[in-house]
Amino acid sequence: MTARTHDLAAITALGALLIVYPANNVTLATALVAVLANQIGGIAPDIDQPTAPFWHNLPSGHFFGRLVGKGLGGHRFITHSIIGVLVMGLLAKLTLQFIHPLMPHIDITLVWWAFIVGMVSHLVMDTLTKEGVPWLLPIPVKFGFPPVRSMRITTGKSMEKLLFLLLLGLNIWYLASHYTHTVEVVRAVVARG
Ligand SMILES: [Zn+2]
Repeated sequence: MTARTHDLAAITALGALLIVYPANNVTLATALVAVLANQIGGIAPDIDQPTAPFWHNLPSGHFFGRLVGKGLGGHRFITHSIIGVLVMGLLAKLTLQFIHPLMPHIDITLVWWAFIVGMVSHLVMDTLTKEGVPWLLPIPVKFGFPPVRSMRITTGKSMEKLLFLLLLGLNIWYLASHYTHTVEVVRAVVARG
């Protein structure tokens, strides 16, 4: 999947999280940091890919990307598995606990969940592609959906664009059908500052 589709899938997953998360006290600062963490989570598994967009944005990014990719076992390996989610989730938790004193008013539990749902959305989306995802590493089997490989998506091709539009449509439909509630929630979040 392309980074653009992963970004949209991650934000969709964050929207779903906010439906179930008791967010009565979410401040604007927490919401902004949660969106940032969610978008990082949404592309984090692809640090194993030297051609990933965020490596391009770093000086000598391609070189470091190759180095990190090799260290992580190549593309779609450990970072694309349940173990990878647990390890990166732990690292994210430690990082958040470390920086929490600098921003004590942020709800780091929500920020952490935003990161995790972003990461899981990445793995779910990659599962829909031809390559599949080794969810159960160290068991070296790549899982895909649908099980028939030829029915899955090729990255960047028209099926992925269709999926992108479907996801976009889902978001627009949800926001439109919950318009009043959404406006109230946004007003409340902004008012809390
Ligand atoms: Zn990926």
